[in-house]
Amino acid sequence: MPVRIDLHTHSSASDGTQAPAEVVRAAADAGLDVLALTDHDTTSGWDEAAAAARVAGVALVRGTEVSARSQRVSVHLLSYLQDPGYRPLADELARIADSRVHRAERIVEALSRDVPITWQQVLDQAGDGTVVGRPHIADVLVVNGVVRDRDQAFATLLHARGPYYVPYHAPDAAAAVELIRAAGGVPVFAHPGADGRGRIVEDAVFDELAEAGLAGLEVFHRDNDEAQRARLEAIAERLGLLVTGASDYHGAGKLNRLGENLTAPEVLAAIEEEGTVEVVRP
Ligand code: AMP
Ligand code: FE
Ligand code: FE
Ligand code: ZN
Repeated sequence: MPVRIDLHTHSSASDGTQAPAEVVRAAADAGLDVLALTDHDTTSGWDEAAAAARVAGVALVRGTEVSARSQRVSVHLLSYLQDPGYRPLADELARIADSRVHRAERIVEALSRDVPITWQQVLDQAGDGTVVGRPHIADVLVVNGVVRDRDQAFATLLHARGPYYVPYHAPDAAAAVELIRAAGGVPVFAHPGADGRGRIVEDAVFDELAEAGLAGLEVFHRDNDEAQRARLEAIAERLGLLVTGASDYHGAGKLNRLGENLTAPEVLAAIEEEGTVEVVRP
């Protein structure tokens, strides 16, 4: 049996719909051998996921999807196996998460002038200790009958080029790569060719990030089309970067299914070699 490794998932610690332990159990049910939990800008799901992994018989790579920016382009960096106690990174994550909450509140304030929604509803929807994002606002818009699902919310009211959009604080991508490395983590550029979500970075940015310590590119992701995959594989080859694949599972919040894209065992071995915290093994 081939080893099935999915290195990008979300729980209710950020914008997934399942608790960390439920994501781990869903991964076991989906026949995965290894999963990474990579909530946006937080490590708060790690302990619950680690306890669940030991019971469920799945190996767990603890990680975080760090929000960053290159010029004006949004960049998501997967950080694997970093020391969660390394203050400079923990503080930066707290800054990003805090800014996300304030920004979500401003989006809701603007929306509430035109459609039924309150900030309290969004807070209740997200739950305690969650990094609030547009998906939680979308969920309230669904409950209130304004839109059909998260997809429709993102295509209309929550669109990044729409009138209600508010940006949030995110560090420069090269600085974030250095910070992840300083924390003993392994930085991998998430969905670098996802041009359906907004602007993507130019080739020269990969050179800059590789110079800063980038370890890999998430080539196999549903938001990278065939042309982007070919481009990214060539860049990874040229710069000597690892190539990963993953689902970016968000529970019921997105169509992405666990294990729909996978990472090769030798790539995981390289990540494990470079990382600081252990992979949790059952
Ligand atoms: P935010 O981080 O608040 O700017 O919201 C972006 C997040 O929403 C991303 O992490 C995506 O996972 C999620 N997202 C983006 N587009 C969609 C969509 N069409 N349906 C559901 N979730 C989405
Ligand atoms: Fe997300
Ligand atoms: Fe992302
Ligand atoms: Zn993600």
